[in-house]
Amino acid sequence: MFWYHYLIISLCALLVVFLAVIIIRTLAFKPKTQDYVPIDLVDFDHDKAITALQEIVKCKTISHEDASLDDEVEFDKLIALLPSLYKNVYANCELKTFDGRALLFKWAGKNSTSNPTVLMSHYDVVSVVEEDWDEPPFDGVIKDGCLWGRGTLDTKVTFNASLFAVDTLIANGFTPENDIYLAFSGGEEVNGVGAKNIVKYFKENGIEPKLVLDEGGGVVENVFPGVKKPCALVGIAEKGMMNVKYTVKTQGGHASAPKPNSPIVALSKACVKLESSPFKYHISKPVAEMFDTLGRHSNFVYKMIFANLWLFKGLLNMLAKKNGGEMNALLRTTVAFTQASGSKGVNVIPPIASITTNMRLNPLDNVDNAYDYLVKTVDNDKIDVTILASTNPSRISRTDVMGYDIVKNAISNTWDKDILVSPYLMVQCSDSRHYGEISDRVYRFSAMDLTSEERASIHGNNEKIRLEAIINSVKFYIAVIKQC
Ligand SMILES: [Zn+2]
Repeated sequence: MFWYHYLIISLCALLVVFLAVIIIRTLAFKPKTQDYVPIDLVDFDHDKAITALQEIVKCKTISHEDASLDDEVEFDKLIALLPSLYKNVYANCELKTFDGRALLFKWAGKNSTSNPTVLMSHYDVVSVVEEDWDEPPFDGVIKDGCLWGRGTLDTKVTFNASLFAVDTLIANGFTPENDIYLAFSGGEEVNGVGAKNIVKYFKENGIEPKLVLDEGGGVVENVFPGVKKPCALVGIAEKGMMNVKYTVKTQGGHASAPKPNSPIVALSKACVKLESSPFKYHISKPVAEMFDTLGRHSNFVYKMIFANLWLFKGLLNMLAKKNGGEMNALLRTTVAFTQASGSKGVNVIPPIASITTNMRLNPLDNVDNAYDYLVKTVDNDKIDVTILASTNPSRISRTDVMGYDIVKNAISNTWDKDILVSPYLMVQCSDSRHYGEISDRVYRFSAMDLTSEERASIHGNNEKIRLEAIINSVKFYIAVIKQC
């Protein structure tokens, strides 16, 4: 044998070992067992739970960016309804209000010194284009097994469910081990001050929750590559947000004799640069935990990728960059071009032109470094880059603590003992981000099972909820509270 035969044999042996490592790691990447502790869920009047939500939906609690457009009468109407809908809550819980709209109920537990729980939601909603709806958005219509209306999914359902669960348990003579707070805001959709003020109150009073639960993921299907069965996604962090405006000013002029590099051309070049140099790819903790949980339930090809990220990270990055969408949003700071403005006349070169981007910041980025990256990438000192609004990514919550186990077990008790429960990174903003100041146990889970069509109707037309989902939501809160 010649020397090169030895070389070929050695290379083949290496390749075999390499492939064996990948295959062995893939085969060992098996689903983890989920603990399940059965909870005795008390019975409740299903019709009453549905009617309560129906009444809440009839209040037109729309939040506007311009607060003077808000109809305060409708907000007052909703608040005035609550004592009759949830009598036991009002008879047994202490109520504090903040700025008129934020409500904080305290249900005292047997032990009032430690481990309180905060169940959050908001009762304001986004506006509607009424003529595009098949049923009126504020009449509380029930048709074909669904309750129609703005806010049914986002998130009057959890507002009603948490109140109804507390009301039911009080009627059953139940007292939680630890204090339970119900914390509601009436301005979440416009980033109002309600949740901020409640957090301030907790901070001033040294209250450190062991569990904070707000809207977020849900029980959903077809959201992870290669996983067909429904999974419950629990957000353990949310991305930050940044609105940025890019402006160019010139002398303007008539379009009949244009000079090169006019404002719109300069801004277009900036767009192309920003799109072709996406932010750095990072697998943050929530995403790593999601891959490690759901990847184990995926098909063989994806399992191989998620079990061997040391090798396939680059491939995943490439696919995410190329396809964009949800996977890409989990892996990096995203930049969406949302607005552009130029001149008013078709034959006028604009003296001032601008574009804006809406960005969602990955947990490993922040407003400052993201801004620096934008300026560096645009690389044009004629373009003014200004931050219009910004929020840093939230704190990342722990999953190795009792708070997370309570949520997980409540999900298994409500839906299915074997349902997949996974941490994930929420790409939208919610009120819960304020709670990072006082707790590392903040979880984002909207207690609902949703089809993709239903998910798409949130903030859109024809928002409606299946009656069965309303009942499940109440069951979930009962299951949570029974463990607190
Ligand atoms: Zn919401």
